[in-house]
Amino acid sequence: MLRFNDHLAVAVSGGKDSLALLHILSKLKKYRPKTILTAVTVDEGITGYRDEALEIAVQNCKRLEIPYLIVSFKELYGFSLDEIVATARSRGETELTACAYCGVLRRKAINAGARKVGANKVATAHTLDDEIQTDLMNIFHGDISRLAKEKPVTSEVHPLLVQKIKPFCEIPENESALYAYVKKIKFQDTPCPYAGEALRNDMRAMLNTIEAKHAGTKFTVFKAFEKLRPAIELTANKESFKTCAECGEPSAGDLCKCCEMLRHVR
Ligand code: SF4
Ligand code: ZN
Repeated sequence: MLRFNDHLAVAVSGGKDSLALLHILSKLKKYRPKTILTAVTVDEGITGYRDEALEIAVQNCKRLEIPYLIVSFKELYGFSLDEIVATARSRGETELTACAYCGVLRRKAINAGARKVGANKVATAHTLDDEIQTDLMNIFHGDISRLAKEKPVTSEVHPLLVQKIKPFCEIPENESALYAYVKKIKFQDTPCPYAGEALRNDMRAMLNTIEAKHAGTKFTVFKAFEKLRPAIELTANKESFKTCAECGEPSAGDLCKCCEMLRHVR
């Protein structure tokens, strides 16, 4: 995942996983002095939630002497997530959850932030739990091309899309939490007010129930997907990129997913 001279944009939300990752990666500065780290934090604009997380993220960056960049939805897209959700709902758009908007817009925001700081890779704190939840969600949605794309080290598919790595992909979420507690890392532990809407919660509950009865299942599922991945990549539609007519970013269609979503609220 890592080369000695990487400039890593570490996606830091202010939660336990991303801060545990930031603290662990900060050790690279000692062993690989040519590695550069910059934290990139996205301010989605979620009232009563994100402000506290931002403050905690910044405190940790200062403590570790890691420069940081905050990218906000409002600045980037003209709307906060709260505004997007409220407008979409007032127009009767109920198909997409807040998390569906948030996921797409945040991905683009992190990529924009990573490019802005000149990073060649984005490191995210997706844990083993996140990875298999995502894999299964992609199966449940029948989204095979997404299943092929969302892997621990993404392929370098376009010069404007910064490669993503997931150093915690084999670390169970509760071990990353344990690290944060043992190291006395300050993190935000209040849940996002929109979190209850996500299909991900059902996946998490299901996998935790099975793991409690059959220890090791999470690793087995992860390994099974990794073994299948080459075959999945062969069957998935190969990505071809156009340029989004609105924002000029790489896109599968005439409009990127982000600009398509923003049409719901403009
Ligand atoms: Fe965004 Fe959903 Fe996560 Fe909240 S729970 S930060 S809305 S993805
Ligand atoms: Zn676009």
